[in-house]
Formats: sequence, C-alpha cells, structure tokens
Amino acid sequence: MTTAPLVRFAPSPTGYLHIGNARPALLNALFARARGGRFLLRLDDTDRERSTQAFADAVSEDLAWLGIVPDLFARQSDRVARHDAAAERLKALGRLYPCYETQEELERRRRRQLGRGQPPIYDRAALSLTEAERAALEAEGRHPHWRFKLDVRTVAWTDLVRGEAHVDCASLSDPVLIRADGSYLYTLPSVVDDAEMGITHVIRGEDHVTNTGVQVQIFEALDAPVPVFGHHNLLTTADGEGLSKRLGHLSLRGLREAGYEPGAVRSLAVLTGSAESVRAVAGLDELAALVDLAQISRAPAKFDPHELDGLNARLVHAMPYAEVAERLTALGVPPERAESFWATVRPNLAKVSEAGDWWRVVAGPVTPVLPDPTFIGAAAALLPAEPWDGETWKAWTNAVKAATGAKGKALFMPLRLAITGLEHGPDLAGLLPLIGRDAVLRRLAGAA
Ligand code: GLU
Repeated sequence: MTTAPLVRFAPSPTGYLHIGNARPALLNALFARARGGRFLLRLDDTDRERSTQAFADAVSEDLAWLGIVPDLFARQSDRVARHDAAAERLKALGRLYPCYETQEELERRRRRQLGRGQPPIYDRAALSLTEAERAALEAEGRHPHWRFKLDVRTVAWTDLVRGEAHVDCASLSDPVLIRADGSYLYTLPSVVDDAEMGITHVIRGEDHVTNTGVQVQIFEALDAPVPVFGHHNLLTTADGEGLSKRLGHLSLRGLREAGYEPGAVRSLAVLTGSAESVRAVAGLDELAALVDLAQISRAPAKFDPHELDGLNARLVHAMPYAEVAERLTALGVPPERAESFWATVRPNLAKVSEAGDWWRVVAGPVTPVLPDPTFIGAAAALLPAEPWDGETWKAWTNAVKAATGAKGKALFMPLRLAITGLEHGPDLAGLLPLIGRDAVLRRLAGAA
C-alpha cells in the first residue's frame, strides 16, 4: 500500500514571497491535491537575525491568497532540541567534526589550491587536529564551526522532474552544518524535520540539487528514510535574471495590491516552463490536472510579468457574479443592481477593480460631451418610456436612425459621448437600464 504524500513548502520568513516562490508552493500543493495528500508549511527560520514574525504572518496570508491552506504548520525554531539531538548523533558517528579556521584562513587556502590548479575543496585539515591542538585553539578564544564529513561517492536518485540525477560528492567541500555561534545553517534542520515529520516528497527548485546530494547522505547517516526528490526549473525574467525577494513589484502582495487575481498568478507561476501552454486556468483542481512534474522543462522558466495582464483579463471576463459580489459592494456598487452591472461591464475589465470606474459612469456625475446638440435633442425626444431592459437601446437607436438618417458610428458615438462622456466603454444596451431614464435625459441635456 502506498501512503498518501506529505509534501512541504519551506520558505525562510526573511522577506515577502514573490512569484518565483509561488512556483514551488503551488507545485507542492497541487501535487498533494491531485493525490489526496497533505501539505506542510514549514518556516525555515534558523536565521534568527533576518527572520521576522511579520514576514512569517505574510507567508500564511500570501499562501491563503493563492488558495493554499496548509494542512500542517511548523517552524524550525521550535525544533532546535531535535536538531541538537541529530547533531549529537552525527558527532558520535564521527560524521560531524569541529573546525577552527577563520574565513580569511579558508580564503587563503582556496586561493592556494586554485593557484595550483586544484579544485577549491576544504582539505579536512581539522580532522587531523589532536585533542591538544583543539584545546589550544579554544584557549585562543576560537569557537568551532562543524562540518559534515561527506562520503566520497556519487549520490544518485530518480528525480520527479529530472529523471536519473546524481551529485558527485567528491567534488564538494564538507558542508558546514553549525556556525561558530552555535546556530544551524538550513541543511541539517531541513533533513531532521523532513525525516521526523514523515515528508514523502521534497519538491523544490533546481538551485537545491547539490544540497540534495549532501542531504541524502545526512538522511542515510541518521538512518532515516530518504524522501523522493523533484527539482523544478526556476522562474526567471525574460532576460534570464533570477527573481529575488527584493523584487518587490513581483511580490505576491504587490501583485495582489495591483489588482491581479490569484488565478492569473497561479497560472503563470505553474504553467511557465511546463509542457502546457500558459493559459488562464481559474481553479486549483483544473490546474492540478495540468501539472505533470515529469514534463517540466529543464530550461529556465522564462516569463514576462506583462503576461499577467492578459491572463487576468481572461479570468475576469469569465468570472461568475457570485465570485465578485462582495468586491463589487466594496467598490460601491449597490447589491440590487450589481448582478446586471457585472454582466455588462465584465467584458471591458482587465482587473475587477476597474469596475469601480464604470460604476461611477453609471451613477454619475459624468461630464457629457455634446458636439452636436441638435442631433442629441432629436434623440432625447425619442427616448422610450420606462420600464427599460436590454432591448431598450436597440429600440431607441432604431427610432433615432429612422428619424435622423444617422447610422453606424455617426449614430452611436454621439449618444455614447453624451451619456458616458467617453468614447469607449461597456455595451450601452446593458448600461442604459442601469443609468435609468432620468439620468440619461439629464446627460442628453448636457447636465452632469
Ligand atoms: N528554506 C529553503 C529555501 O527557501 C527550503 C529549501 C527546501 O525546500 O528544502 O530555499
């Protein structure tokens, strides 16, 4: 029997999530969703200096906006005792050893190695220190940092995205797991938490491939089952530039504030660089059905943020009233007229927020534009009596056409300019009953 997957998204709360972070968050969430699995949000907050509660809260809010509600939540800072226990085990196994070199000493050594044409790999000098030498270094006031002793071998795995993958650990320095101040780098806590929480699949960016070589060795040293790994390509801008948390305009909250729909951001974040064309997919289930990790490209997932505009417009054009009812109320549209208003303006919107502008055109005041008052006066005299409906515009313009001989643009444009003050806008057949006869008459007379 295979157990349902347990996946995790493990951001560091050191900044706001951006569209590039949405990619692993969604790939994990959709993977679990399609398989009846669960999703853990784990804050990788071992960097105490840069992690803040405000960023941690923002992670949950931004995920919720994307439609991701984690089944489980954890933060690494609560689990330090577990990390310590694992570190002690590795020390006892001789896999975690103290080193005393300063950054400058390491840098000098690296330069020497490079000068000799050798790869700049840590030479494990600390492994041959005697007890007395260690004691002498500590007496100097040096605190050790701790390195994991890699097995000199190739680690291979079957990657959900990349297929057969491997990392030659002989080409790596023994990684530092614990800094001289006693704090952990991300590498060990991540393994301990993945192992103890029973993570079945680790789906993350391909910038972590080398980490996987190291981390598989740590799982094995700790006698823990090794999860299945998948490393997806990273979102980059069109010029190949990676995204960093500093790119504020592509932060999820920035995109939300700019009025983009989560569905547009989801579609772009997930479908870029996949086997599927980038298109507007409204629902999470629909999107989950399109994602096949094995089909994700190996090339960088280049995207153009402007694509969000088209995706957003397509989602808005198809958005049912029930989904926007509350937002329309917040934009000042009275609930009793909101449904027909939505049906009328929806095709003209790139963003839902623009509905507020069209409501102001309905409710007024507008500044009528009347280049030909005689024509408009004739039209006003023919305005049908209420009640008005979706046919009123046609009946009226047919009557104006018969009376004045105007047709096409010469017929419609002066009426649109008089009633809305604008050259373009939603279908007047829909707008007319919303504006109502009294207001239309006032505008035809040139009054706001
Ligand atoms: N905190 C790590 C990061 O944000 C997590 C990587 C992983 O998924 O293991 O890059």
